[in-house]
Amino acid sequence: MELRLYDTLTKEKRPFVPLNANDVRMYVCGPTVYDFAHIGNARPVIVFDVLFRLLRHLYGEAHVKYVRNITDVDDKINDRAARDFPGLPLNEAIRKVTEQTGQQFHADVDALGALRPSVEPRATEHIGEMREIIERLVKGGFAYAAEDHVLFSPQAMNAANAGLPRYGALSNRSLDEMIAGARVDVAPYKKDNTDFVLWKPSKPGEPSWPSPAGIKAEGRPGWHIECSAMAWKHLGEHFDIHGGGIDLVFPHHENEVAQTCCAFHRERMANYWMHNGFLQVESEKMSKSLGNFITIHELLADWPGEVLRLNMLKTHYRSPIDWTMKSLEESAKTLDDWYRVAADVAPGKPAASVVDPLLDDLNTPLAIAALHGLRSSDVPALAGSLRLLGFLSESAAQWEGRKQQASGVDAKEVERLLSERTAARSRKDFRESDRIRDLLAAMGVAIKDSKDGTTWEVMR
Ligand code: AMP
Ligand code: ZN
Repeated sequence: MELRLYDTLTKEKRPFVPLNANDVRMYVCGPTVYDFAHIGNARPVIVFDVLFRLLRHLYGEAHVKYVRNITDVDDKINDRAARDFPGLPLNEAIRKVTEQTGQQFHADVDALGALRPSVEPRATEHIGEMREIIERLVKGGFAYAAEDHVLFSPQAMNAANAGLPRYGALSNRSLDEMIAGARVDVAPYKKDNTDFVLWKPSKPGEPSWPSPAGIKAEGRPGWHIECSAMAWKHLGEHFDIHGGGIDLVFPHHENEVAQTCCAFHRERMANYWMHNGFLQVESEKMSKSLGNFITIHELLADWPGEVLRLNMLKTHYRSPIDWTMKSLEESAKTLDDWYRVAADVAPGKPAASVVDPLLDDLNTPLAIAALHGLRSSDVPALAGSLRLLGFLSESAAQWEGRKQQASGVDAKEVERLLSERTAARSRKDFRESDRIRDLLAAMGVAIKDSKDGTTWEVMR
């Protein structure tokens, strides 16, 4: 079977044909580092990690390049820095915020079983590339400087019409409707209300760099140009896959396409645009004001990262996902079982029944259903397939030990009670052995008798 991916631009599932099978290239928009990442942010991380793993499986580890950026210049970062470190010069405070948040992000996504991307570029290290793209856009007549800003003109892009995509094509909007629907209180330096910022002046004390387009005052980039610059630097003018959450299609990705295609006179920036659906919590939109805003960090205190990972992958990546406690509990039970039967088994080849649904636009729910089937038919294939999907990073004993630790169960005490129970059973004192079983159950420990002896585990 061949890999097929859904492309947001053409609105169809198409066979995936890499530009160069020895150098498959994917860019995914990464976090803005100013606070703990929430569980919604974990969705693109996990989804595109599965795609990264699948591409490596198909094309070889050395032949796939995955770039996920870190946005470390942004108003939210500046606000946070001023609030958290009022005694420090702003630039130092900003460095502290981005360093801390970057480390938290890594700790979180490592725990989710996500491989590190091949490159994690930082926006502040690519200002030169941003300036160069902006200069090209000004030269080409797609952008102009006004009041220390540089603005991109979607109308100039659509008027040029020479081997360029149409502005609005990715997000399926018409520029005329955008013009009609735009706010009236547009910034005075904009020629048209649909123009967007490539570069803007920095406020005093804020990070600033020498400006492009002949602007004397120092300034800083807009958000959209950052990704065009980092993708260009690490993947070239035209690459295979660009991903992110569905909320990024407009304006962020529409503007990335506009910038890159106009700067390099290209019809396409990426051949496949992939977007994950949104995550909501217990059927409600996640927001700070509703009090249902959960960080990955908080969830990891209660659940192993692989439980969060499985829970995410039970829903197809393009569908909305409802994140519920009930589903988490089920995911935990499933993983407990898989760890018990498969973690210590030599892994076989991933099964076709798991890989084939993944090849069909990452159909993870179907792949997971196939894993349940393998549980009773082919445990080595189950182990190999689980590893392909980023599970079973621990041994069965480590997994069980962590669970015991998290639940506060004292393994020595359990063992002591179990040997008392064995003694009671051998003298046929079933009242005593039942009493001990109930006692263990009250401690959250389930026991299972078989001909090989008694095993136990912590119930979640
Ligand atoms: P942000 O830091 O808000 O730019 O988001 C980083 C990534 O997380 C982007 O790819 C967003 O599309 C994605 N994202 C943010 N919120 C959610 C959500 N509730 N569900 C799914 N993806 C999200
Ligand atoms: Zn981006």
